[in-house]
Amino acid sequence: MPSRPPRLVVISNRVPNPGDKKAQAGGLAAALLDALGDSGGLWFGWNGKVGNVYRPDPTIGEQAGITFATMELSRRDYNEYYNGFANRTLWPLLHYRLDIAYFDRQQYSRYIEVNRLFAEKLSPLLRTTDIIWVHDYHLIPIAAELRALGHKQKIGFFLHTPFPATEIMTALPNHDQLVRSMFDYDLIGFQTEKHKRAFLDYLRYELGAEVTAKHVELDGRRVRIGVFPVGIDADQFKRNGADAESLVWHRNLRRQHGDTDWLIGVDRLDYSKGLIERFRSYERFLAKYSEFQRKVTFFQIAPPSRAEVPEYREIRHELEAEAGHINGRFADLDWVPINYINKSYSRAQLARFYHESRVGFVTPLRDGMNLVAMEYVAAQNPQDPGALILSRFAGAAEYLDGALVVNPFGPDGVSDAIAMALDMPLEERRERYDSMMAAIEGNDVRKWGRTFIQALIKIRRDRAAK
Ligand code: UDP
Repeated sequence: MPSRPPRLVVISNRVPNPGDKKAQAGGLAAALLDALGDSGGLWFGWNGKVGNVYRPDPTIGEQAGITFATMELSRRDYNEYYNGFANRTLWPLLHYRLDIAYFDRQQYSRYIEVNRLFAEKLSPLLRTTDIIWVHDYHLIPIAAELRALGHKQKIGFFLHTPFPATEIMTALPNHDQLVRSMFDYDLIGFQTEKHKRAFLDYLRYELGAEVTAKHVELDGRRVRIGVFPVGIDADQFKRNGADAESLVWHRNLRRQHGDTDWLIGVDRLDYSKGLIERFRSYERFLAKYSEFQRKVTFFQIAPPSRAEVPEYREIRHELEAEAGHINGRFADLDWVPINYINKSYSRAQLARFYHESRVGFVTPLRDGMNLVAMEYVAAQNPQDPGALILSRFAGAAEYLDGALVVNPFGPDGVSDAIAMALDMPLEERRERYDSMMAAIEGNDVRKWGRTFIQALIKIRRDRAAK
């Protein structure tokens, strides 16, 4: 008889509301919910609320056989752990933005403290036979905190962001303490080979760890390192994209924007997404390839995020000015070259926008993976697909070989790629689409979850305990 899988415990900074239907929760959350459902699992983390009660016990809820244990953060924890060390120090550092990374010892202490708090609150809910999967940079030291409480379960960690070059990482005052704590994991996963290589370089040359084909060892502690690229729910985007043509919404939009070819960008409003550079490249394109004026419309959807972090407020103002400048320079009574929209849309609606757009314009300066790139491709009409412009610094560039890969820092190269994408013959578009779809469909988001969990389950401990 097949044995029952161990119970999966997922720990992430944010836990979706248990009331969210799978379709609304987004690909990643849906994949985790699937995996949790298979084993009657537990999902632990922050519920997104900033409360008045100081460090309350988690609220426990159940939905479809999955237990949700979620906590509020106090205002101070929220400011110093979440907005502070996680999003003003680690996030910029992991995305190569040393120039805006802000270091504060107090915030670092608070980050460790909140990780300890999470470990303490989770501890009584754990069973010895569980396997634990921790997500992302907010929670790097939580395995060390769980070990300190005596937990010996297998614990895996997945970094959704890039891991930077050693010279960047070492600019973090407590980098070695933070990275050493990762040896309390059994398995560490990255999105791409490049991120994994950067991590191994750091371990080898900075910490003097021994790197073998199977694992990395430091001071008698071993951890396995792997690459587990996140994917999307390709079928959902295919289906929703194909809906576009039948909708009144679509006909109205078309009428409004005339017979232009659309470029689409969809990004959280974040400096890592390269939006300023993207706008400037588009401006260069309109100036350099003036024959395309009045023939294209660029939609940039950019819902605001992390609005309490000052750098995010600043970029918003800069983008408004830049969009205004481009429209001021090129617009006419019957043509608006750039539509900059600070609203968020459902994935179904995005799929229709993608489907209608001749060019997917995805040019982050750094990105762990970038799901929008894959979503754009999946939502295309296979008979007449659009072309994808993709930054070489997005993790997705390692997998989508049919994209027009660009350097987002160079407006000339990007503007040439826009012209090329718009002029690309049907046959070439189809070939590129087919090869990208093969990669996307071969790596569905559910496969990502299953593969990581299987790898964690399969690890043999060479010593009694972590
Ligand atoms: N997204 C959305 N509505 C929006 C904008 C974005 O649902 O208005 C989704 C988008 O479909 C994608 C995700 O947010 O699945 C963004 O993921 P990505 O990896 O591109 O970037 P991240 O925000 O994780 O850095």
